[in-house]
Amino acid sequence: MKITDHIKQADKTLLSLEILPPRKGQKIEDLFSVLDPLMEYKPSFVNVTYHREENKYIPQANGLLRKQKVRKRPGTVGIAAGITNRYNVDTVPHIICGGFSKEETENALIDLDYLGVNNLLVLRGDPMKSEGVFVPEPEGHEYASELLEQVVNLNKGIYLDDELQNIAKTNFCIGVAAYPEKHFESPNKKTDLQYLKQKVDKGADYIVTQMFFDNQVYFDFVKKCREMDINVPIIPGLKPLATKKQLQRIPQFFHINYPEVLVDEVLKCKTNEAVYELGIEWAVQQSKELMAFGAPCLHYYTMGRGNNILKVVEQVY
Ligand code: FAD
Repeated sequence: MKITDHIKQADKTLLSLEILPPRKGQKIEDLFSVLDPLMEYKPSFVNVTYHREENKYIPQANGLLRKQKVRKRPGTVGIAAGITNRYNVDTVPHIICGGFSKEETENALIDLDYLGVNNLLVLRGDPMKSEGVFVPEPEGHEYASELLEQVVNLNKGIYLDDELQNIAKTNFCIGVAAYPEKHFESPNKKTDLQYLKQKVDKGADYIVTQMFFDNQVYFDFVKKCREMDINVPIIPGLKPLATKKQLQRIPQFFHINYPEVLVDEVLKCKTNEAVYELGIEWAVQQSKELMAFGAPCLHYYTMGRGNNILKVVEQVY
């Protein structure tokens, strides 16, 4: 079922989860052991992130380095199908511009269509760690809005090869990402919102936000979106803070701010266990307030670990 239909049919705030494919060499059962207890709370859908290849530099006998491409977390499509198979739940694989030509994207979309997956989160993708800035493939897309256009075209039966006959249309429901505190490359919030609106105008059906720890950030963001005539559902993304180290790491990786009160409380904690418990408590309060506000769904980023999410979900759903 499409995510937008889940939302339309719901009479309460839905639950969704986001998982990472396991690192190459790890068992899928490790992922299932994270998901098994969470599935009792009947999430409406599970997102599966996509991780592009990275460059690895291997020392050679001659002293030079050989560049090799490696993908540390392959398997997004297989895992999406595996989760639906095991739990009978809708999955939302992420598809990204980075590392893909348009032709490869089209073929991946055809695979997903054949598998019966009809929800996607369409993203530009992170830059390669070794490159620092996002570099599109020569025959690929530079922005999520361009990739989105390709999916919208496929939904209309427009393939890259315009000589195809008796074409089948796909039926993807399309989500896109948004950043209530601004995407880190954007010159300002207004410009960022204009590009978000462009994605919605081109056919995005709903939005999932970057994590935030201050609900006012989400409330203000939703208000601004509505003022700009962005009227699709806006699903808030949440992650419980788990360690003191994350006070630096999360802003570094995700470009978000922590509210002062939360930081003050974390700094008072003497152990990481205390931070972990505080993170759960904070996320529970955030979740309850977002529900009262009428958020269509709460989207929890598990990042490969589910224990704290389970403790939050137990108290909220
Ligand atoms: P875009 O919408 O393309 O925006 C990128 C930047 O370009 C923004 O600053 C925007 O304002 C600007 N921009 C947009 N259009 C234009 C234009 N036409 N001209 C000039 N500037 C423009 N990354 C992964 O690699 N894999 C994942 O699975 C993944 N999942 C994610 C899930 C969620 C919910 C979120 C919020 C992020 C996720 N990311 C993931 C991270 C995401 O790929 C990065 O944040 C990336 O830097 C931006 O992706 P986007 O789709 O928002 O890009």
